[in-house]
Formats: sequence, C-alpha cells, structure tokens
Amino acid sequence: MSEVPYFVQLNEALEISQKRTIPVSINEIDLDFCHNMILSEDLESKVDDPPFDNSAMDGFAMRYKDTINPPNTLDIIGTIQAAGQEDNIVVGENQAVRIMTGAPMPKGADSILQIEMTEVNGEKVTLQKESMKNFIRFKGENLTKGQVAISAGTLLTPSQIGMCATMGYGKLKVYKPLKIAIISTGDELIQPGGELVRGQIYESNSFGIAGLVKKLGHDPVRMQCVGDTLDDLRSTLNQASKSCDLILTSGGVSMGEWDLVRKIMEQEGTLDFWRVKLRPGSPPLFGLWGDTPIFGLPGNPVSSHVVFRMIVAPWIRNLTGATGPVENRAFARLATVVKPTKDCLTLRRVSITMGENELIATQKIHQGSGNIASMAHSEALVILQPGEEYPIGKIVEIMYL
Ligand code: AMP
Ligand code: MG
Repeated sequence: MSEVPYFVQLNEALEISQKRTIPVSINEIDLDFCHNMILSEDLESKVDDPPFDNSAMDGFAMRYKDTINPPNTLDIIGTIQAAGQEDNIVVGENQAVRIMTGAPMPKGADSILQIEMTEVNGEKVTLQKESMKNFIRFKGENLTKGQVAISAGTLLTPSQIGMCATMGYGKLKVYKPLKIAIISTGDELIQPGGELVRGQIYESNSFGIAGLVKKLGHDPVRMQCVGDTLDDLRSTLNQASKSCDLILTSGGVSMGEWDLVRKIMEQEGTLDFWRVKLRPGSPPLFGLWGDTPIFGLPGNPVSSHVVFRMIVAPWIRNLTGATGPVENRAFARLATVVKPTKDCLTLRRVSITMGENELIATQKIHQGSGNIASMAHSEALVILQPGEEYPIGKIVEIMYL
C-alpha cells in the first residue's frame, strides 16, 4: 500500500489517471443519430452559406437610391419566388420586383423593403419608407466553402447538427460512445420504488452518475447494486470489465472495515492513487480492474457527483478531446460567506442570480456531503482554494451544475 500515491492534489489525480487511456473507436453515422455525439474530425463546409444572395424578407427588391424620398411609387416588373425566376430580370430606375424570403436577388437591385411597409395597386407599389440594404443575405456571409466551421471533439448540440446539415453533411464521423459501468455498493441500499425498512436508504448515486455520463455523450450501464461482500463485488467487477470500457463504483472507498472497494482494489486490482485533496469528495481511488480503468467514487451523493465532475469527466473528455457542458465556468460575486478548508480544494453549492452587472452567488443550503437536495437546489459550485478567505463581496470562480 505504501507506494500508492495517497491524498494527492487534484492536478496530480488528473495527471496520474490520464496516463491510462483506452482506445475510442470512430463510426460514420447518419446525421439523425448524431445528437449529443462527439465529432471526431474537423468539418469544412462543403458550400457557401447562403449559397447565393437572397432576400431576408417577403417584400420588394429595388435600387436604394429610388427610395430615399418616401412615399413614392415604383413599377412592379416581376415576381421572384424561387431560383431561376431572377435570370431574365434586371431592376432599373423606379422599378421593383416582388420577392419572397430566401429567393435570389435580381440584378440591379441592392435593397429590400418588407411588404408591411408597402401598398400595392395593380402593377404599382407605393413605399412608406426607405428600403434596407441589410435585408439582403449575401452569399457566404455565414459560412464560406472550405471553412472549418466545427472542430473535432465537439459534443454536438441541436444547432450544430443543423449547421452540419447546412454545410452538406448527411453523415458524420463521431466517436463511438463508451460503455461506462456504474456499480453502487452498500448493504443499506435498496432500489427506489420499493419499501424501506429501518436502516435502509434508496440507492440514488447510480441514477445521478448515469445522467452525468449521458451529458458527456456516453452510455451508462447501471449494474446491479452489490452488498458489502467481497465475492459479490468481485463477480460484478469481473462482469463489468468484460462488458464495459470503464468502471465507476460508488461507496466503500473510505477507511472503514466495510469499505470493500478499497480493500479489493488493494488486494486484487492495480491501485494508482487513493484519496484526493478535494472537499467534498476526498476518498476516491483510481486504478485498473483487470485491464479496465476504474474510478472508485465516494458513497455520499454530493461527493460522488463532485468527484465525477472534477476527476472522471476530465478523464473521459481527454480520450476524445471533447468539450462540453459539464465544464461551464463563470465568475460571480459572493453574497454570503463561504468556508474553504485548510488543505483541500473545496466546492460549495450556491444559488446564482443576476445582479446589476454581474452574477451573484449565495450559499443557502446546509452543505453536508450526504445532502443531495443541496445539489439539486443549487445552480453552481463555487471553487475555493485552500487556505484563502472568502468574505462577502469577493469574486469567485463558479462551475455550473
Ligand atoms: P460509504 O462510502 O459506502 O461509507 O457511503 C457513505 C454514505 O453514502 C453512507 O451514508 C451511504 O449510505 C451513502 N451511500 C453510499 N452509496 C450510496 C448510493 N448509491 N446512493 C445513495 N447513498 C449512498
Ligand atoms: Mg458503504
């Protein structure tokens, strides 16, 4: 045990764990199935967007200089509803062309007036105001052909999927989601939905952790919860390492006699570190079970969540260079005193509100590491450096939950 790094700094925990990587394969799949997947290559636009100059409004296209003294009346010389219809039209002095949103601009016209600002009388249109040059959407103003518009590692959001379609991609190369086993341990745990008897609690960690895994674009596999016996734990770990890429356990990593995840890792696994200078969440371990990487998360619900965000999420993201929502940070001003610890990076749960010109962080809820409601009712974690003071009014770094 003595040679295993013990009670390490967060950055050491990240460094040690990230030395172990696993391969992630790449699949080319239909765009439809790429939501919340991680893009594996930089994407160049196949087209200009828009591909041609077009109108941003339903209205009329004309020469701006014919509109500077409204109200005045122009001759309507044609209608453009779709590409091709503009081919034989040239807009001349005091002429206008009826045009639909998205239809190509005719030659000669340099501006648009929206239909609401016009009055049509047969083949004449009277303008109530000057036309607008910025109602033209110019070829390539959003994206130019060949431009790298989205880079490898992006966890694809709905608008990015839409942009991929705009750029001409019907399929994308994305990383195959990892299968991540989640094993809760503890004799006291029963599945939500059942009846509790005295001494039992509902198992909650695997559900929350599964949600975090999904947020990162991977596939959680909630394994059967195991009681505090080495045999059950061993066989579930073996099963997980056969079927999954990464194992996460919860509970059983502290100092106690019944902390069997730590015990079994010491005796039968490969342990890379145990305990981290992080509050809440100091007990975690990392290593290998067989050849499958394993993070042992603490049992306390807040601790397991914090350890996932601070250690497991960076490890998972590092495999694909992924960016994503678990890392959204900002600065806020403290409205209440928050307590750091002497020697650990400390995270407190706070509510975030908008002040006049800044975000305001308020610690409202008791901060016990068993209090999952304190996570569920907070918007962010404040990140507190060991030994510093955090009085009211101080600007602090926050991480959105
Ligand atoms: P342990 O690290 O196993 O000693 O667990 C620490 C605390 O977290 C104990 O109060 C456990 O009952 C609780 N706990 C452990 N695992 C879970 C879980 N999966 N869901 C909810 N609470 C848990
Ligand atoms: Mg336990």
